[in-house]
Amino acid sequence: MQSRWDDSSLQALISSCAEQGVNEDLAIRTYTTRLLGQEPRLVLHGGGNTSVKTRMPDALGCEHDVLCVKGSGWDMGTIMPAGLPAVELAPLAGLARVSTLSDADLVATQRRLLLDPYAPDPSIEAVLHATIPHKHVDHTHSNAIVSLTNQPNGEDIVRDLFPDTTIIPYVMPGFMLAQMVCKQLEESPGAKHLILMCHGVFTFHDDPRQSYEDMIRMCAAAEKRLDAGAARPFLPARLPAEAPEASEIAPLIRGALARPGDVEGRPDRWILDFRSSDQIRAFVDGAHVGDYATRGNASPDHSIRIKRFGLVAPAPESGKLDAFAEGLSVGVRNYCNAYDAYFERNNARSGGGLTQLDPVPRIVYVPGVGLFGVGKSAREASVCADIAEATVDVISGAEGIGTFVALPEEDLFDIEYWSLEQAKLAKSVERPLNRQIAIVTGGASGLGLEIARLLRSEGAEVAIFDIHAERVHQAASEIGAMEVVCDVTVPRAVEDAVRKVVCRHGGVDVLISNAGGAFRGSLDCVDDALFRRAFELNFWSHHLMARECVRIMEAQGTGGAIVFNVSKQALNPGPGFGPYGTSKAALMALVRQYAIEHGASGITANAVNADRIRTMLLTDELVAERAAARGVTHEEYMRGNLLKREVTAGDVAEAFLHLAKATKTTGAILTVDGGNVAAMVR
Ligand SMILES: [Zn+2]
Repeated sequence: MQSRWDDSSLQALISSCAEQGVNEDLAIRTYTTRLLGQEPRLVLHGGGNTSVKTRMPDALGCEHDVLCVKGSGWDMGTIMPAGLPAVELAPLAGLARVSTLSDADLVATQRRLLLDPYAPDPSIEAVLHATIPHKHVDHTHSNAIVSLTNQPNGEDIVRDLFPDTTIIPYVMPGFMLAQMVCKQLEESPGAKHLILMCHGVFTFHDDPRQSYEDMIRMCAAAEKRLDAGAARPFLPARLPAEAPEASEIAPLIRGALARPGDVEGRPDRWILDFRSSDQIRAFVDGAHVGDYATRGNASPDHSIRIKRFGLVAPAPESGKLDAFAEGLSVGVRNYCNAYDAYFERNNARSGGGLTQLDPVPRIVYVPGVGLFGVGKSAREASVCADIAEATVDVISGAEGIGTFVALPEEDLFDIEYWSLEQAKLAKSVERPLNRQIAIVTGGASGLGLEIARLLRSEGAEVAIFDIHAERVHQAASEIGAMEVVCDVTVPRAVEDAVRKVVCRHGGVDVLISNAGGAFRGSLDCVDDALFRRAFELNFWSHHLMARECVRIMEAQGTGGAIVFNVSKQALNPGPGFGPYGTSKAALMALVRQYAIEHGASGITANAVNADRIRTMLLTDELVAERAAARGVTHEEYMRGNLLKREVTAGDVAEAFLHLAKATKTTGAILTVDGGNVAAMVR
């Protein structure tokens, strides 16, 4: 690990901060916090914190001695000055001398001491930062340092490597840790830095560069110490000769992890994030992975994200995936039962009254393949996968020089069930399509984009399929979706594209099969090639997409929803639209066939019949042409229905959304056309 200090970047940040009236100390602190936060081996996802002691005016212009300390909800790598709220220093430091203080009272008291009442909550470690007399304080959960402290003889190793360090035994972060550090600093006022057993490291100095580079130096020394250990500490297991691809087993993992939900037909599913590397493979392929991966996690704050430890799956063998699925579901059941017992034990120990969290593992280690992060959203799954990678790094380093030991389960439980975390539970509300993965074909524009946007806003992870590379890129970045360029009429392209979604998120739960085209021509003279193209796009592509998605849904075993875009032409054909109408009518039969064949697996197949909405197919020019042909105005043409209301893409998207969520409707056609007797389903 090396220093990333760069004077010119620092000066640039100081100047831009000065223009916004930000104090220079805070600008420097913002800079050094980002330097630490950009190194994943030091801090991950809200772990670690920093502070600077400075003077600032309040709203009335009175100057105060303050501690600007990392606020909760900010990521160190991208922090802004607003992410380091100012707290009155003297009363904050004084809190370390109070005999007891609950977490909730600590948070409330820290808020009362903020100069800006709208600022984020100061870090739970703010009191600790205030008790250290130096201007700059840096704190990280360095993987390498933790590999050294989490050993049976961790203290000896640390003392040997850093003779002048002050060692703090493990206590729960927050008020108790602040009290202990305060006491230690009174006993040894010349402390240069602190190493917290099973937690991390603090460096501090009046000079910001010195404090930052002390951190880098200590972590580099710890890394060097680990490098002297065994490079491959894990004895390899005897694994099947051929392992399947991650995309083949991901749907089985999603299936095994799913649990019954509140609504029948809508189980609590999970999104996955797959990772593999040489280091991960050496870890998961080890003969004793079931031991070292389940001793406990590397850093107590990880318990909030990944629980005490992950699940080790059986080793899958290519061509024998049924056996893998069976072994995995037994493994998940045992994991969940053990988790329930762990909760019961520790809830009783801490006086009862805690709300149990779900027992589902957040990491699945798969020998011969890699690891999967598990979350309620792609974001959560990726955070868990990042933490899993850090866990693998710490345990690999620790085993290389000795034996990895984790904190006792009581300590990990106390963090996982921290009162502040329990309070957050009450506030968290899930959206109806959270935990679901949806594909929208023809999703880069018009109705498809409208549907994709709606599914996303309801919480789904969305993959937009479209043939236009540039358009799909723009649409996907606009709504935060995955982009997949795909010609849905080509079987191989469809297979590859769906596999990409499975590789990224683990499976598929919803297919919106929307791509289509309004091919025209009278049957007596239409070109055969054009007629066939109509069937390729309006019939075959829907079958290809549905077939691929249904195979994955069947493997998951958690049902699913497919919604096709049939159009008015399927029910009420018009002259000159034979290629369009006949291909869409065939699609309507396809909808029913999928409903019949997969209903028993809880997979719904429905369709939306929409008419006369402004899209890429029905342009303003075409509307003008048709209105003129009927002798009505543009407006009258668009409102030419029983309700005399124009139907928008948004109205039709709502119908798709409804059918994507419906768990008790299949084989149905939902009409959204303002009312048209000829197109009514009969
Ligand atoms: Zn910490």
